[in-house]
Amino acid sequence: MRAPSLLLVAVSTLLAPTVLAVPSYPQPPPPPQQPSHHPAWRSVTDAIVRNIWSPPVQSRPEPAISALTHPKHSGDVVVRFNISNSQDATSLADAADTLFLDLWEYTDDWVDIRLQGDLLPSLLGLLPSSLHRAHSLLMDDFSLQHAISDTYPSSRSARLLQPNSPTHHSAFGPKLGTSSSENIFFNDYQPLSVIQPWMRLMASLFTTHVRIINIGTTYEGRDIPAMRIGVHPTNNDSPTRRKTILITGGLHAREWISTSTVNYIAYSLITGYGKNHVITTLLEEFDWVFVPTINPDGYAYTWETDRLWRKNRQQTSLRFCRGLDLDRSFSFKWDGANTRSNPCSESFSGSAPFEAVESKRLADWARNETDNNNVDFVGLLDLHSYSQQILYPYSYTCDQSPPNLENLQEVAAGLSKVMRLSGGRYYQSAPACEGNVGLVSTGDRQVFPRFETGGGSFLDWFYHDLKVKYTYQVKLRDRGTYGFLLPRDHIVPTGKEVLDAVIYFGKLLSGQLDLTATEEEQVELKQPLQQDEENMTSIDVDGEVEDDENVMVELRRRSRI
Ligand SMILES: [Zn+2]
Repeated sequence: MRAPSLLLVAVSTLLAPTVLAVPSYPQPPPPPQQPSHHPAWRSVTDAIVRNIWSPPVQSRPEPAISALTHPKHSGDVVVRFNISNSQDATSLADAADTLFLDLWEYTDDWVDIRLQGDLLPSLLGLLPSSLHRAHSLLMDDFSLQHAISDTYPSSRSARLLQPNSPTHHSAFGPKLGTSSSENIFFNDYQPLSVIQPWMRLMASLFTTHVRIINIGTTYEGRDIPAMRIGVHPTNNDSPTRRKTILITGGLHAREWISTSTVNYIAYSLITGYGKNHVITTLLEEFDWVFVPTINPDGYAYTWETDRLWRKNRQQTSLRFCRGLDLDRSFSFKWDGANTRSNPCSESFSGSAPFEAVESKRLADWARNETDNNNVDFVGLLDLHSYSQQILYPYSYTCDQSPPNLENLQEVAAGLSKVMRLSGGRYYQSAPACEGNVGLVSTGDRQVFPRFETGGGSFLDWFYHDLKVKYTYQVKLRDRGTYGFLLPRDHIVPTGKEVLDAVIYFGKLLSGQLDLTATEEEQVELKQPLQQDEENMTSIDVDGEVEDDENVMVELRRRSRI
C-alpha cells in the first residue's frame, strides 16, 4: 500500500528541518524548527523527535576525546608498490607479514601498505631491488594526518582551524560548494550516535514502508540495526516467499564511505517511494534490507580512538592484539591456518569458523530469515572501500568457478557500466579471488601468490551456503588518492553512482531488464570518463528523478535471468 500523498508531503516538509537539525558529532541534535504553516504536525513531530533522539537507557556516552586529539598514526605513511612478477609478490607478502604491516588494498597491479615511515628502509631491505624502483609515496605523514582529520564532520574540523592549533592547515577547512538541495546528513560522515537515531526517525516518519530490525548483538553489546524497506513486509503468515535484496556496509570499520552509501541509498528509496515510479515498483517487488554498520564496535572505535581500525573489537589470545576480520570469519572455506597464529594480523580470522561474533550474528539472522520468515534472498551488495572494484564469487580460490559465472560477470559488467555513466568513475569487475591476489597481464594472466587468505568471506558464504545467485562485494571510491580517508565531499557523488547501480540491480532481478548489452554495445571501459552532467542519470536525495528511464538505455533485452 502506498503512503497517502498528504502524509508524504507533510513528512517531506518536516523531514528536512529535522535532519537539518542533526549536528556534527558528538552532540545529539536539538528539536527541529517547525515550519509555521504546519502547526497541526508540530506536536506530533516534536513527540517523535523527542522520543527518537532521547538516548536509550543502555546507550553508552560518546567519549570527550577523539582520534583527532590523540592521533595514533603520527609518523605513518602509505606506500604503493607496483607488482610485475611473482617474486615481487612473494617477497612483499612475506615482508608485510614479518613486519605486521597494514595492507590497505591490492588490485591486479598494485599494493598499498601503511606503515611507520621509519620502517620503510627496513621494508625495502627485505625486498628485491626491482621493488625499490617500483614504489611511490601515496601519503606522507603530513597528508595522512590531514586526511584522517578531514574525514570528521566539518564543525570538528572547523575547531581545528584556530590559529594556534598545531594542525592548522588549509586542508582542514570546511568543504564549500555543497548543493543546497543535498541533505546535510550526507554532507558529513556520521557516528553511531547520529546514524541510529536517524534510522529510527526514518522508521517513525515512513511507517508505511520502513521498519527497524535488529540483526543481533555485537561482542561489546551493541545492536546491529538495519532498515527493512518494502511495502509487503514479510511475516510468517505470508503465503509466498518475499524476494529480498540485502545491502550492507561497515563490515570493515574504517571504510566509512560504505556506511554513508548504505544510508544514502536507503534514504533515496525511502523518500522516492510514492514519488518515483521506478522506486515504487522496486519497493513493491522486493524487500530491501539495509545494514549500514555490520561492525558497530569497530565503527565506534574508529570514531573514538583509531580512525584506521579495520576488524571488530573482540578479545583474542593476545592481550594487545584485539579484533577478528569479519570478512575472513564465515564458515565457507574458512582458512584460519594461515592467520590464526597471528591475532595481530589485520586479516585475523580467529581460531574457528564464526568465532567472530558479528559474522555469526549476521549468518544466523540471514539463515533464520530464510528458514523461518519466508524470506527469499535474491541479491547481495556488500559495500566496502577502496579501489573501485565489483567483485563476485569466489573469493577463496581462483581454481573453482561458480556455476553461474557468466551471469555474475554480465551483471558485474552492467553495474560497472551504470556507475561509469553515472559518476564518471571506472569500476573494475573481477572475481573476488583476483582482488585478493597479485595478478598481472603479460600476455597470459598470471596468478601471483596471495597476500592474504580469501577464505571465510561473507561474499562466498552468502553465495554458496545461502544459495543466493547474485552476490557482489563492491569496493567504492577511490583508487588510492585518499584510500579509506575519502573526503566527505565524495559522500553524495558516491551515493548517487551506487544508487544508480542499485536501481539497475533491482530492475534486473525483477525481470525489467535483461542481463547485458550485445557485443556491439560493449563500450571501452578501461578509461574513466570525465564527469559529464548531461550523462548523469541519478536520483538525488530528495527523490527527484533525473533521466531515470535512460539509466539503462543502452542495454538491450536479450535473455532473462
Ligand atoms: Zn573492506
